[in-house]
Order: sequence, then structure tokens, then C-alpha cells
Amino acid sequence: MGKPKVATVWLEGCAGCHMSFLDLDEGLLDILSAVDLTVTPITDFKNFDFQEVTVGIIEGGIGNEEQVEIAEKLRKSCKILIAWGDCAVFGGINTLRNWIPKDEVLRYGYIETESTVEGAIPMHEDIPPLLDKVLPVNGVVPVDVYVPGCPPSTEAIAYSLTEILQGRIPVLPTEMMHFD
Ligand code: SF4
Repeated sequence: MGKPKVATVWLEGCAGCHMSFLDLDEGLLDILSAVDLTVTPITDFKNFDFQEVTVGIIEGGIGNEEQVEIAEKLRKSCKILIAWGDCAVFGGINTLRNWIPKDEVLRYGYIETESTVEGAIPMHEDIPPLLDKVLPVNGVVPVDVYVPGCPPSTEAIAYSLTEILQGRIPVLPTEMMHFD
């Protein structure tokens, strides 16, 4: 039997959760020797053909239609789905726009800011439409494991992956749960 496959995606987030994973330093070698990292932004992989993986990991909230599609695709492709970080777990800082109607957000951001001259809301078939509100991952697909924090600590990331590799669904110890 081959090593478990792991795919990770970075949706509406800042990459900080993936950075926290990379901050495992030499601990990263233990994890990477135990898994096959397939689709991941760490290798700049942009093809979301996940195939079958054991673990899917999502960093970031879900704020547009493309992100909904990627989350649904990863959910279908993986046995265990992890939400990494407050953006994936709660929607995080992205949800600041949820208080304001979407059209107003776009108008202000692209046309009305003081520094904008002759602004226009960008529209193109390659630009995925925004959802009305930013959602946490479990607002779109079921999640099996939550690793909160902004970013989650390296310890929490390592613990959750190690538990899964040992055949257990991780329950984070209280000291690893931090909500920033
Ligand atoms: S949870 Fe924090 S570190 Fe992770 S993507 Fe969101 S803002 Fe960035």
C-alpha cells in the first residue's frame, strides 16, 4: 500500500496557514516522508484534478463561485477534509464584507475609493463571480476536522496530521485551540 495522499488548497485566505505548515521546519520532513503531497499551492500546483486522496485540506473561506467548485471537488475526492485556520473554520477576516451588500462592496472597492481614478468593476469570464456572502468551508461542504487559529499553530497542524496518519480523527487538545 502506498503512502496516503494529501491535497491542499488555498482559497479565500492569505497563505498564512500554509506558511504555518511550512514553519514545522524539520518536523515537515517527518510528515512529508509519510505522505504524498499531490495538489498543493506549496508546489505552485494550479490543476485542481485531485484524483482520490486520503486527506484534503482547505485554507481560506469560500467567497466566490470558483471556490465553491474547488471545495466541492476536493470534498468528493478525499476521505477526510480538514479546515485549516479561522478563515476556513469561521470565514475569518473575509466575512467583514458580509455586513455590506455585494454590489456596494464592489462599487466602493473599484470605483469610489479616494485613490481611484476612472475605476470600473472588472468583469471577465475568467473572473469568478463573488458570492453574496463569504462562507466558512462547512457552509458549502461537510468538514471532518477543524484546526482553528490565525494561523493555526504548527503544533496543531502537526498534531492533526499525525493523528490522521495513525488512523484517528483528531480532537485538538484545548491548549492547541486558539482563536485569534
Ligand atoms: S486563518 Fe489567518 S493565516 Fe489563515 S488564511 Fe485566514 S487570515 Fe491567513
